[in-house]
Amino acid sequence: MSDLQIVLYPHPALKWKSRDVTRIDAQLRQWVADMFRLMYEAKGIGLAANQVALPYRLFVINPTGDPDQPEHEQVFINPEIIRRNGSAEAEEGCLSLPEVFGPVTRAERIVVETFDLNGQSLQMELEGLAARVVQHESDHLDGILFTDRVSADTLRELQPLLDDFTRRFRQAQQAGTIPDNEQLQQRLKQLETERAG
Ligand code: ZN
Repeated sequence: MSDLQIVLYPHPALKWKSRDVTRIDAQLRQWVADMFRLMYEAKGIGLAANQVALPYRLFVINPTGDPDQPEHEQVFINPEIIRRNGSAEAEEGCLSLPEVFGPVTRAERIVVETFDLNGQSLQMELEGLAARVVQHESDHLDGILFTDRVSADTLRELQPLLDDFTRRFRQAQQAGTIPDNEQLQQRLKQLETERAG
């Protein structure tokens, strides 16, 4: 059984600028399988590694959100968005901020270069929901949340919800059910070192 779980705002992993994946091995494959499972359990369509407190440039998506349609599953390893075209606004949410939603403007179409789980390099042209999910998840790898991309007015509306998350997180830390930030950051650095080079 895996001990991975989805971390909630404001866990420091969500602000982490993640490191490149340096090798695809059994451990990484296991993490990917766990991430898909957690994503489906949470009714999500994408999940980035730092949302399960793994500081690596990796995310999984399935724009259908349907575990019975695994043909739509895609694993992105060390992805780079190399082209963005057009602009579209749509409501977004995040598994690290349950019940928080807001409109975000993103590129309508993107070209992304990535490695897959076989270490194969590929280039993909995406549009619509898939393009949006990939932009949202790529942001995660740089420590950026969708709430960093909403308008000032929307952020003002969402702020009380974010404050509630912060309050609950601090309470859990004071109660000892979540380690303090220094320990959480130590753990992230340790994970980086374990898989560096
Ligand atoms: Zn998210």
